[in-house]
Amino acid sequence: MANNEESRGLKSLFDWFANRRKSGSTSLERQEREIADGLWHKCPKCGVLSYAKDLRANQMVCVECGHHNRVDSDERIRQLIDQNTWRPMDEHLRPTDPLQFRDRKLYSDRLREMQEKIGLIDAVKTGLGQINGLPIALGVMDFRFMGGSMGSVVGEKLTRMIEQATQRCYPVVIVCTSGGARMQEGMLSLMQMAKISAALQRHQEARLLYIPILTNPTTGGVTASFAMLGDIIIAEPKATIGFAGRRVIEQTLREKLPDDFQTAEDLLKHGFVDDIVSRTQLKSTLAQLIALHQPLPTTPPMLLWESMSLSSTVVE
Ligand SMILES: [Zn+2]
Repeated sequence: MANNEESRGLKSLFDWFANRRKSGSTSLERQEREIADGLWHKCPKCGVLSYAKDLRANQMVCVECGHHNRVDSDERIRQLIDQNTWRPMDEHLRPTDPLQFRDRKLYSDRLREMQEKIGLIDAVKTGLGQINGLPIALGVMDFRFMGGSMGSVVGEKLTRMIEQATQRCYPVVIVCTSGGARMQEGMLSLMQMAKISAALQRHQEARLLYIPILTNPTTGGVTASFAMLGDIIIAEPKATIGFAGRRVIEQTLREKLPDDFQTAEDLLKHGFVDDIVSRTQLKSTLAQLIALHQPLPTTPPMLLWESMSLSSTVVE
């Protein structure tokens, strides 16, 4: 009898441990599955798990450590532009392969694969929209498409958008992220730098505002052209911003570079960027800057004078 009870007790203890182990592994498996399904997100910086919905609500900025996770162009437009005001431009422009370029594979095959995988035609989205009710022309680069490299389509779409903004007297905002020029397009890629810069010059001559937003990473030909031509240059915290890569510079100079070299914070210290703005504050900051730079209504001098003397009469 005692033996029986003892064995029953032992059995239930075994069951308890077995069940516990089983439930432990299932919850771990469930957790991994949920991360894979995109329900949870593990911060690459601090390792904290956050609910994907909460992270999206915080504009993909880690609530724990403030790490700015990369966002795609659609998400970025959703974050910046007022609902139902986005009007995309030049969506029909497609890249071609004029040099019949081949590295490990044909450039034309690489393009097709990218387009199928990501659902974008090239590495930038452009359009007109409103930011807190103020009209702007916005270009957003997408790092997922060949590292946001600047090919002919990126150059042409940005140029057309800037020209449209000049015509309509709109400010321009470009969210930059790029590995640089698109080598597969050779010279045709490099000439985009001059083309976009010329369009920006005409936009500036019309006394209009241009703000580039430098996000992680902004490098190469983009840094060497429109990313650095802003009236006010804003960067996201900890973004890597530079022209040549760190290793290339170290090898050329034959010296070790400081840890914060080519970071937004280092560039701010040296006057290359005007401010570092957290993504959660970006829309309100942009709206404020754009509102401050709205062109004055053209009032004839006589009327202005009359309204001034009228108001002084009222004060008296
Ligand atoms: Zn974090």
